[in-house]
Amino acid sequence: MPKLKLSLQLFLGSLVFLTGCETVPVTGRSQLIMVSNSQVASMAAGEFSKMSKLPNDPRLEQIRRVGLKIVMAARRDDPHGLLPPANQWEFAVINDKSPNAFAMPGGKIGFNVGMFPYASTDDDIAVILGHEVAHVLSQHSSERISQALLMQVGAVAVDEATKNQSARTRQAWLTGFGLGAQLGVLLPFSRSHESEADHLGLIFMSRAGYHPEAAPLFWQRFSAASATKPPEFFSTHPADETRIRQLQVWMNEAKAQSKPALKP
Ligand SMILES: [Zn+2]
Repeated sequence: MPKLKLSLQLFLGSLVFLTGCETVPVTGRSQLIMVSNSQVASMAAGEFSKMSKLPNDPRLEQIRRVGLKIVMAARRDDPHGLLPPANQWEFAVINDKSPNAFAMPGGKIGFNVGMFPYASTDDDIAVILGHEVAHVLSQHSSERISQALLMQVGAVAVDEATKNQSARTRQAWLTGFGLGAQLGVLLPFSRSHESEADHLGLIFMSRAGYHPEAAPLFWQRFSAASATKPPEFFSTHPADETRIRQLQVWMNEAKAQSKPALKP
């Protein structure tokens, strides 16, 4: 038995070596990445193209303006070039009443119409987009897809599964984007992913010229509003006391990187 255990460890060890143990910018956490950023980006582009968008919604310009500043701020911590240049990002107001927002690898940002009642000011939108762009920079989707594929098809089949995205593995990919809810599966990002996205997001919004104090206020307000009727974003982003306390801990670090707001 111990022999088998050892060879399994050796196998998993070589798998990690072959597929890549990477490091998250700023926090320095090590992570297992078995699907490339470009694979994830191409899957994301396919999903994004299918979404119902509102190109004439007057708030699209606000999402684009705030989003571009966040992207530019985040690209200062992107040694591996995971975030496309600002002019390659696509922004959309999504025709969906549930309060949700996302950023996808490859440079797609979506903001549901149902999110505006909870976040309408530039600062509020910067809280959400800072957090979502941080998920992209930290390759949380790749990491989640890797984990989901491992669970679903097993280590030996992951390589095949990433080459040939079958219906069977599609769920794993969508789960990785945090879009599982659209398929009726709510799978929250792990606590470590959420903390990382909060931490980096706070820094990015501050760098971009927004007020990081808006972050704990947003989560408190959102938490109170969703107490009666938990919206999707809240179900996958629990705003507990830990989250709000951590944001306060990182506040000074974020403010130290602030600069006057850029001209639109
Ligand atoms: Zn999140």
